[in-house]
Amino acid sequence: MPQETAAIPRRKRIALIAHDDRKQDLLEWAEYNKDSLRRHLLYATGTTGTLLEKRLGIPVVSFMTGPLGGDQQIGAKIAQGEIDFLIFFWDPLESHPHDPDVRALLRVAVLKNIPVATNRATADFIFSSPLMDSAYERYVYDYASRLKRGRLIDSLQDGE
Ligand code: PGA
Repeated sequence: MPQETAAIPRRKRIALIAHDDRKQDLLEWAEYNKDSLRRHLLYATGTTGTLLEKRLGIPVVSFMTGPLGGDQQIGAKIAQGEIDFLIFFWDPLESHPHDPDVRALLRVAVLKNIPVATNRATADFIFSSPLMDSAYERYVYDYASRLKRGRLIDSLQDGE
């Protein structure tokens, strides 16, 4: 059960990422939602960020390119509570050398209970939500005590 909440502010810190075959789709989606995106703070992996900045004319904080650690950098920011929204158009038809990083990024986004869109339809639904223009209290799940509980069960089973 959730114990606490953490604020996703009105001005959201949004990370945008697209695999190469999905970049065109993300750029078109971002162009369509430019007025909404302008009201937030944008972050991206290297190539996605460069393309978005050029297309939208809105500042984007770009990390390293995905294959060289950009997804991990964004994952770390989510873990630290410094990014609170993820739009990640990943390619369902290709495997990539950094697939483990992608999996880790999606895992930490679920762990932190932040909104995640991995395709255009979901991004459309999320962006048309009235919550986009208000602050939101997300539940923070008490995974720490669950982990402790697991360890206690292990030690009881071991007869300690
Ligand atoms: P890129 O990285 O924006 O630098 O292309 C995205 C990715 O492949 O994860």
